[in-house]
Amino acid sequence: MHNESLIQENMLVTLRSRFFTLQVTSLLQAPQSISPKNPLLSLSHKLQMFETPKFNLHYCNHASFATKGSKPGPVSETKKFIEKVLFVPPGVGPEEVTDDLILPGSNIVLGPYAGDAKIKEVEFVKSSNRPKDCPKDDRPEFAMLGRSNVGKSSLINALVRKKEVALTSKKPGKTQLINHFLVNRSWYIVDLPGYGFANAPEAARMDWSAFTKGYFLNRETLVSVLLLVDASVPPQKIDLDCANWLGRNNIPMTLVFTKCDKIKGGKAKRPDENIRDFQQLIRENYKRHPPWIMTSSMTGLGRDELLLHLSQLRNYWNNE
Ligand code: GDP
Repeated sequence: MHNESLIQENMLVTLRSRFFTLQVTSLLQAPQSISPKNPLLSLSHKLQMFETPKFNLHYCNHASFATKGSKPGPVSETKKFIEKVLFVPPGVGPEEVTDDLILPGSNIVLGPYAGDAKIKEVEFVKSSNRPKDCPKDDRPEFAMLGRSNVGKSSLINALVRKKEVALTSKKPGKTQLINHFLVNRSWYIVDLPGYGFANAPEAARMDWSAFTKGYFLNRETLVSVLLLVDASVPPQKIDLDCANWLGRNNIPMTLVFTKCDKIKGGKAKRPDENIRDFQQLIRENYKRHPPWIMTSSMTGLGRDELLLHLSQLRNYWNNE
């Protein structure tokens, strides 16, 4: 077995046994407090990435988790706060959330549906010109979307560990295609055309919009859109418009921040600052914050975590 897959398997085993322990211990005793030695980003740090935290770690440890079933008050507010800021998947109660269950560099809590994350085989299936030409076999799919140059091809190639998988035409005005890749013969990665070509004629941009929106609104097997956002630059209007449109139309979305390794120096903001700014700008269009994750195709940051996230969404979808 390759090193990376071993790491992924180990991570899953650890998180699963942690989850199991947590379930059992929460029945018997007050849940464990968050360890200061935890190698993962602390919960309080994660919360700070969204907004000025109203609640500190002490508050989360001692007020919320230890008093399940007690009178309403500040406790339920912490619970609400966790539900609003973190992505808590089905099968996990907000009172069960601890640092160990949050995937590093994200707001995503790992739950019991995670598993079979590893990609063993990928097969290009077809390019479709219209949403109604897409495969009709009921397998779950994830659509990858983002501005041209956001790093989509690099991320797809990193996820599937191949050099040249993404085929979408990068040139404005060229035929726009929805590309389906079948993974492990059981689910699809869908490569959508990049948007926001700076010098594309207005008509080409409008085409993109009608074309892709039709797909999002009508595709029943779409589990989640993965909206790729370049974290090395400040929030861009076109990305914000896209995230807001998805939010307003209740289309499930995961924000995948790319190029998180890229630090420009000088007065430019760091990727984590750009990410925080982006979240703040879209917040009002979402009742609950969508799942988000930091990635880098250069360093491999977030790759295994993103695959685990996709596995839990997919497995839940399959079991629904
Ligand atoms: P696409 O147009 O969205 O498919 O973008 P590409 O995958 O072709 O990447 C566009 C440019 O960004 C290329 O020069 C890549 O080398 C670069 N790039 C992509 N991902 C990363 C990343 O994670 N970190 C850095 N520093 N550069 C990246």
